[in-house]
Amino acid sequence: MNILILGSGGREHSLAWATLQNPKCDKLIVAPGNAGIAKIADCADLDIMDGGAVAVFCDDNNIDFVIVGPEAPLAAGVADDLRAAGYTVFGPSAAAAALEASKAFTKEICDAARAPTAAYGHFTDADAARAHVKAHGAPIVIKADGLAAGKGVIIAMTEDEALSAVDTMFEGAFGDAGAEVVIEEFMEGEEASFFVLCDGETVLPIGTAQDHKRVGDGDTGPNTGGMGAYSPAPVLTDAIAQRALDEIVRPCMAEMVRRGIPYQGVLYAGLMIRDGAPRLVEYNVRFGDPECQVLMMRLGAQAFDLMHATADGRLADARVNWAEDHAITVVMAADGYPGSYEKGSVIGGLDALPEDSANMVFHAGTTRAEGQFRAAGGRVLNVTARGASLAEAQARAYAMVDRIDWPEGFCRRDIGWRAL
Ligand code: ATP
Repeated sequence: MNILILGSGGREHSLAWATLQNPKCDKLIVAPGNAGIAKIADCADLDIMDGGAVAVFCDDNNIDFVIVGPEAPLAAGVADDLRAAGYTVFGPSAAAAALEASKAFTKEICDAARAPTAAYGHFTDADAARAHVKAHGAPIVIKADGLAAGKGVIIAMTEDEALSAVDTMFEGAFGDAGAEVVIEEFMEGEEASFFVLCDGETVLPIGTAQDHKRVGDGDTGPNTGGMGAYSPAPVLTDAIAQRALDEIVRPCMAEMVRRGIPYQGVLYAGLMIRDGAPRLVEYNVRFGDPECQVLMMRLGAQAFDLMHATADGRLADARVNWAEDHAITVVMAADGYPGSYEKGSVIGGLDALPEDSANMVFHAGTTRAEGQFRAAGGRVLNVTARGASLAEAQARAYAMVDRIDWPEGFCRRDIGWRAL
């Protein structure tokens, strides 16, 4: 089969790596890809937000199957365009991608499905939003409705903070994403990520993970896109995962079917767990980055079969072959991230590292010229390892980190601490 993966981060590098292990893969192209992906697959310069252009590319290159990595092309309807052109695609329609693109839509689906989540109000008017804050007090959570790259959420610990967050959003700090605001009850507990595949009807769990959002050791400092992750997440026990399926994910997926917008792709449920009960924080309509990297490390070649069965509506017959393993990924970022940082510093030592089923460095933002890898973003490398225990996986990952020669980069030294 000829396969096209859309995206350019560590997530897409890990998707490509897992796909290439599957004998069904004859040819793999990643668009636009990055310097790490270019070591294992062809990369193509393509505007992945333009569904028409992607369909023409698929025609020209005899592509049989397309995997969409990031949320932006999904929300823009690229999967719809490709399906209309006759291609098999892994990823939801734009209408179903509203589960990530609109927090108000997700809340409405949860209400209809009676799925446990934070109590909320939805506002298009600043005065009504301010009145809601005054009536409920703090702590309280203020969210811009649309996609804001993880920056549109303010956890307000005081009423004043909440009121000024409401004003900032309605004054347009998040553009159109903030023209509607959702205000939520603050939920306490421990967060974990639950990943399922859904082919419209059938839901199949494919793993749990926990990420590390803060930049510094001990979960200190500002929020980032994620400084590392591990899988499985012990806080999400089998019993809690079953409750999440029965009480949250399956009822929501059934509600999508009832509305005529069945969900097809990976669904990432961010859960808040307290006293053995899960509540939904958010849905994402794609694999998390860097959570994808640990899931791909654990699933290996079968990841491709599972994604293809999802796109083909064959999940009812699919099974996951679980191993008793653990995976971890440590993000190496450029000094200064998540604030301003320099691009272009040279990264040495990568070519000497092992690349096998237990050790992989996925590239998130690199370029290569004259044989040298250089940093090209904030989060740059995902140093990923697998082991029989989390401690073993962690030791392997940090052993690789210590062999990477990049004075202008840094990482957290405590990824996995909650589970160790
Ligand atoms: P991202 O894509 O970065 O996860 P997002 O913009 O989609 O962010 P949410 O996931 O809804 O936003 O919220 C971001 C984070 O804020 C959550 O991961 C969680 O830690 C916290 N959070 C959100 N809603 C609540 C809530 N009701 N109670 C407590 N914490 C919350």
